[in-house]
Amino acid sequence: MRYEDAWRRSVDDPEGFWGEQAKLIHWETPPARILDATHPPFRRWFVGGTTNLCHNAVDRHLDTRGDQLAIVAVSTETNTTREITYRELHREVNAFAAILVSLGVGRGDRVVIYLPNIAEATFAMLACARIGAIHSVVFGGFAAHNLALRIDDAEPALLICADAGMRGGKVIPYKPLVDAALREANAAPAHVLVVDRGLDPAMERQPGRDVDYATLRERHLDTDVPVVWLESNEPSYLLYTSGTTGKPKGVQRDVGGHAVALALSMTTIFDLRPGQTILCTSDVGWAVGHSYNVYGPLIGGCTAILYEGVPTSPDPGIWWRLCETYGVRTMFSSPTAIRLLKKQDAAWLSRYDLSALEWIFLAGEPLDRPTYEWLTAGTGKTVIDNYWQTETGWPALSLMPGLDLKPVKPGSPGFPTFGYRMRVIDEATGEEKPAGEKGVLVIEPPLPPGCLTTIWRDDERYRRSYFGHFSECLYSSLDWAVRDADGYFFILGRTDDVINVAGHRLGTREIEESVASLGAVAEVAVVGIVDELKGQVPAVFATLRQGVTDDPRDVAQAMERRVVELLGSLARPACVYVVGALPKTRSGKLLRRSLQALIQGTDPGDLSTLDDPNALDEVRRAILRGPDCGARRA
Ligand code: AMP
Repeated sequence: MRYEDAWRRSVDDPEGFWGEQAKLIHWETPPARILDATHPPFRRWFVGGTTNLCHNAVDRHLDTRGDQLAIVAVSTETNTTREITYRELHREVNAFAAILVSLGVGRGDRVVIYLPNIAEATFAMLACARIGAIHSVVFGGFAAHNLALRIDDAEPALLICADAGMRGGKVIPYKPLVDAALREANAAPAHVLVVDRGLDPAMERQPGRDVDYATLRERHLDTDVPVVWLESNEPSYLLYTSGTTGKPKGVQRDVGGHAVALALSMTTIFDLRPGQTILCTSDVGWAVGHSYNVYGPLIGGCTAILYEGVPTSPDPGIWWRLCETYGVRTMFSSPTAIRLLKKQDAAWLSRYDLSALEWIFLAGEPLDRPTYEWLTAGTGKTVIDNYWQTETGWPALSLMPGLDLKPVKPGSPGFPTFGYRMRVIDEATGEEKPAGEKGVLVIEPPLPPGCLTTIWRDDERYRRSYFGHFSECLYSSLDWAVRDADGYFFILGRTDDVINVAGHRLGTREIEESVASLGAVAEVAVVGIVDELKGQVPAVFATLRQGVTDDPRDVAQAMERRVVELLGSLARPACVYVVGALPKTRSGKLLRRSLQALIQGTDPGDLSTLDDPNALDEVRRAILRGPDCGARRA
């Protein structure tokens, strides 16, 4: 089938197209109606159909591939490899589901999962799906405050955590962060289920509240927990993501649309058939991890390799060795990870037998040409850039080697995937931009299956955040883009105050709020600046309250510590500048873009609305002088 024909049908006849794709999964009750788009910007897919993600990912394969590997959980941190067949997965997930039930968790209840990339994370997610509970996985790198915010929004019935994670040989205790988050949160659950990996002997347990996974697993190991059939549009999970305010958005996904979109993407985009293997190096705490470490490969009857560790340890050949050992056909990673490997000897790329490997997909941030070329030349494989957001849940722009592979254009994630009708429009007028001109990337509703259905308990925020930008009802991606004369899209960065650090989205407002929580700080502005490895990193500019006489370097260090403490080391500022004043417009708006330009040595843009020119000079001087904290110099 030609891409053009399939895509055209998906947008011109969505009911016909998606009605056919629905057959890719098992429905207990077939949908009565394929699409209900009567209340835009909301839409419901496969209305009236009942299904279950866990059934589609696990039970459905028992007869045909029970003895095939479902997941291979490799940890180069603990030096362990767990090979788990579909049959074994079924047993583990049932036991996990029985534990959830025994702790009073039921359909519609939320469960916060704070686990590293270990098999239990997959079990926990599938167990929630099995009984109709709504999981909300929180990335293990997030600190206590971030976790508390998510707990308060989701109001979980249960929190599942590990004693610790590990990174680069270092144990990172999780449980103390959970304890701190639960002290801060207003909606603490009654129980915490602890997966004790034996990594933190000093872990404290709160009697009555904390329960031990291994003990309960023993008790429930041979319990069968029936699948709960859910209406296609019931929520399957929440995944919090940064927006322009300090409060993260609970992206809500459905059941049926999510399953169908993933099933379709597995064959057409990732070119994977049942029995084949994918290595996706994402953390389960990100959207990519949900879709391509867990649900997508399992729904597709594939083998998913789950990796805990850094890409360079025990040596920079580890991922390629896994490709050889397990005959990986498709690999999925991020440009940052590849840039990390690029600092190592290129010979690692050709040391292993990569004959089974066909495709290397990269997503999450712009793929720069040198990284693309290094990887292509070193492996001889086709490298496919693909663009998506937590909100879309699967690639929105990508080439499709499983259908018909169009020529790769470096720097471009290619064309819209199924159901995505996209435009590049003028920010002010909403008019479509001609080829080659920059504008805002928008999606015409209805959003295809798999995309978010709303923001958890906040339909109004969903409407406002995504559809409130133009007079026409259009989903704004909040990304700048350009489409070339051949129809290829190029992504040029965010239109809002969100920065992308190593492929992870951070709201500058969240960082500003943490800095401002220090008593000494009067005002703060955070901007993203270019970083060779991570794409972008945060830079902080702050003024101190009158009367504060502390050494600015001490306060700057306190700011850095506070950000790491509240948000996690991902958000660690690369540099902190303490200044006398911040540049603002006459109406009091911080000129973040000018700050960003000044620190990067580019044109600060239109300064006609600047209130106090001295503030800008002050910032210029501070930049010349060097940061008060942080290794990075402009
Ligand atoms: P997240 O929701 O954390 O996955 O972040 C989504 C954002 O990452 C998008 O809005 C883009 O700004 C950026 N992004 C994701 N994939 C790509 C890509 N292939 N090229 C450029 N930017 C990307």
